[in-house]
Amino acid sequence: MLTRGLYINGEFVDALDGATLDVLNPHDGSVIAVVAEGGEKDIDRAVRAAGAAYPGWSSLAAADRGRLLLRLADLIEEHSVELARLESLDTGHPLHDSTLLDVPRTVATFRYFGGMADKYQGFLPPVEAGFLNYVTHDPIGVVGQIVPWNFPLMFCGWKLGPALAAGNTVVMKPSELVPLSTLRLCELIADAGFPPGVVNVVPGYGARAGARLAAHPDVGKVSFTGSTAMGRSIVTQSAGNLKRLQLELGGKGANIVFSDANLVAAVNGSAFAIFHNQGQACIAGSRLIVHESIADEFLEKFLALATTIRVGDPLDERTEMGPLTSAMHRDRVLNYVDIARAEGGEVLTGGKAPANPTLAKGFYVEPTIVKASPDSRVCKEEVFGPFVSVSTFSSDEEATQIANSTDYGLGAGLWTNDLSRAHRMAGVLRAGMVWVNSYKRVNPGSPFGGVGSSGYGREMGFEAMHEYTEPKSVWINVNAAIPPWYPR
Ligand code: NAD
Repeated sequence: MLTRGLYINGEFVDALDGATLDVLNPHDGSVIAVVAEGGEKDIDRAVRAAGAAYPGWSSLAAADRGRLLLRLADLIEEHSVELARLESLDTGHPLHDSTLLDVPRTVATFRYFGGMADKYQGFLPPVEAGFLNYVTHDPIGVVGQIVPWNFPLMFCGWKLGPALAAGNTVVMKPSELVPLSTLRLCELIADAGFPPGVVNVVPGYGARAGARLAAHPDVGKVSFTGSTAMGRSIVTQSAGNLKRLQLELGGKGANIVFSDANLVAAVNGSAFAIFHNQGQACIAGSRLIVHESIADEFLEKFLALATTIRVGDPLDERTEMGPLTSAMHRDRVLNYVDIARAEGGEVLTGGKAPANPTLAKGFYVEPTIVKASPDSRVCKEEVFGPFVSVSTFSSDEEATQIANSTDYGLGAGLWTNDLSRAHRMAGVLRAGMVWVNSYKRVNPGSPFGGVGSSGYGREMGFEAMHEYTEPKSVWINVNAAIPPWYPR
């Protein structure tokens, strides 16, 4: 049995109170690891370690911080087979996805921010004659990072990359459900040569470790990815020292298929939008909105694809959809099937666990497609599973109205060959990201985040560097005369 400690000050240690948590294999519910469970006092010592490491790390040449991030990217790449397997074992991601998406994206993100470290520079505003004004981007200090369970390794790249490049030190709390790849990453962080205390990882429950990190007076910023409900609670918990916050919260992605779309591409792209990672993605295209003139043809093709998706053991390379990450989450998703039926929705396929007896102990749900009214709960609330609602529209205005009728505003997709419509719709959709004739594209250079109940702040790109720095404006009097303090 795998056992892992908390990673504090460059060492793996037990929790101070000796608490542990079991990590389950979502494929069969078995225990695959026992991990130390950090509590409030463990967060306190991790924050102390990060605070002690901060002066050295923040004053290191930016190029040297970058070099360590690049070395880490190389090490992740060298261990990509092992990391992909571990991620699949722990989260249920199909091995194909962990191998071709999660790990390469993590490598690419660390490389991007490794390269960014010594290129992110200040500027000189052109101010009055006689003065020199320059602006530096100073690191914030100790930052807290609270991470959900859907893409644990990839989120390490998104969060650690910019935080470290900018000169901050970090205390991260991964999800209690899937801490294994993050803890393995800690070993690679040590191997890469990061000084002790620069990165500290404390797996534990939200109510204990998470809440303490959010409230800690010596933490200058919290980057939180998780549900909207918890995001609201982080705002309250963090108020004591007016921490800076970055909130990457839930989504209810509208995916609109127009009558002029390439239907084959739209069907494939829409399946990826909702069924990739079992729909456990904040940007999932969970609301299909299809033009009424092509709805029958689109649905026929979409159903034909969904019913042939290979659901199975994530470690089997042929698997296209694995289990959900926990039994509790599986039950929550299936409860939404009952809610859909109670509200008059029609389950076109799925809506239950697969019949295959070899999957009976796992947390599986079949790909589920439900015809539902845009006003129903399943079209408003985030299900976060392989569950897509389908509704129809008759005009661009109606499509916009339906798409914008949730409080969320994260990702949205459009399928059309009409260039003007594509630009017009991209402009009016209330979302942080819009994909045209594609869905769920992400890149380390492009900002990622949402509006409304999807939160605020952005991961990746230059925006992420802004998130992890404070601008400091310095004024130098070069040769300006100081006048009398007040004309008398
Ligand atoms: P969650 O909100 O339950 O938990 C997220 C993290 O917060 C976990 O580490 C958890 O332990 C911690 N936490 C829980 N209670 C806490 C508290 N009181 N104080 C501090 N921390 C606490 O979310 P989840 O179920 O792990 O993840 C799914 C959610 O994450 C979905 O809503 C999804 O949309 C969202 N998500 C958003 C993005 C994005 O970038 N916008 C990306 C991925 C996931």
